[in-house]
Amino acid sequence: MRKNTIAIDTKLPRTDAYGAIAMPVYHTAAYEFGTAKEMADAFCGRVLAPDYSRVMNPTVMHLEDTVKALTGAANVFAFCSGMAAITNALLAVVEQGKKVVTSKHLFGNTVALLNKTLARLGVETQMVDLLDLEAVRNAVDENTACLFMEIVTNPQMEVADIKALAAIAHEKGVPLIADTTVIPFTQFSAKALGVDIEVVSSTKYISGGATSLGGLVIDYGSFPVVNQRIRFELLFNVGSYMAPHAAYMQSLGLETLDARYRVQAGNALALARKLREVPEIKRVNYIGLEDNPFYALAREQFGETSGAMLTIDLADKRTCFRFIDSLKLVRRATNLFDNKTLAIHPYSTIFGPFSGSQKREMDVLDTTIRLSVGLEDVEDVFEDIVQAVGS
Ligand SMILES: *Cc1c(COP(=O)(O)O)cnc(C)c1O
Repeated sequence: MRKNTIAIDTKLPRTDAYGAIAMPVYHTAAYEFGTAKEMADAFCGRVLAPDYSRVMNPTVMHLEDTVKALTGAANVFAFCSGMAAITNALLAVVEQGKKVVTSKHLFGNTVALLNKTLARLGVETQMVDLLDLEAVRNAVDENTACLFMEIVTNPQMEVADIKALAAIAHEKGVPLIADTTVIPFTQFSAKALGVDIEVVSSTKYISGGATSLGGLVIDYGSFPVVNQRIRFELLFNVGSYMAPHAAYMQSLGLETLDARYRVQAGNALALARKLREVPEIKRVNYIGLEDNPFYALAREQFGETSGAMLTIDLADKRTCFRFIDSLKLVRRATNLFDNKTLAIHPYSTIFGPFSGSQKREMDVLDTTIRLSVGLEDVEDVFEDIVQAVGS
């Protein structure tokens, strides 16, 4: 089966009593068993059957099964947000006194998870330039728990060589964990590039219409401890499993993911090309433009499309604020890959809590606007941007 067929026709875990075509929403906390033995088998993990919805729920399992079929993963776990997925993936591999090697270009809350929350528990983070493979090789040592990366950093739009990073991690026997939120797994295989554990904010492309929060840990099975700890320890003890209603909406989103994505990526490319001709825009940063420094590597790794996120740079922060205030169609909102086009000034919002010098170090500039391109007719989005930069 090919990807769209899998996304739409992955079988429900059991035949529904009424033959429902959509996965029913099992809004239940607990499940009744026929016998004491069946109950004991489920509770002790001898049989994989839902006993309590903190750990397993049929609606969530259907989403997990579909993602498993789409990616070829050994195990998929759905959580209540992208951050919960990242936290659980990291908690499955870190220990006190061990370190995470990663980039200084990371999603703001992931930076804070590492530098504040995990630091307080005695897990160190070393931030290196992931484009400098020698620096990465020096950083990854016997004390390293994992190498963590984002496949296209945001808002810098940097692309590192995933195969090379996987080789370095595997030389030292540590997993490569990749946050692949910005290019859907229907477009490329993280597994084929050597990624051991993929984490995804399914709030973004998968939910589609910004209907719900969610996160996925897609485990390719190369480090069995990850499945062991998430399934038998973290789901129980941390309690951040996805809610059934969110899983229902995200399963619907997954059915149309590839169709939506192709239009959005096409819109993003068309918009990036047109925005380059607008004199007030100093720079358009999109990995799908032929002269982007990451164009060739992005093609090689992610295929023919380049996502629906791009940035533009304007003269200064005041101009950025005036631009955002003048938008009539494009929404002033965070989030990525909504059906609607969204604009945000990352410096003053997502990275607002960081100091000026921290932001300089992370290459987050006060002149940058991030755009997430939606499903509208792209000419309308272009016209709105042009009137807003000119105002
Ligand atoms: C949004 C996002 C997250 C966090 O996901 P939530 O679902 O908002 O918790 C993590 N990584 C990246 C790259 C994101 O864009």
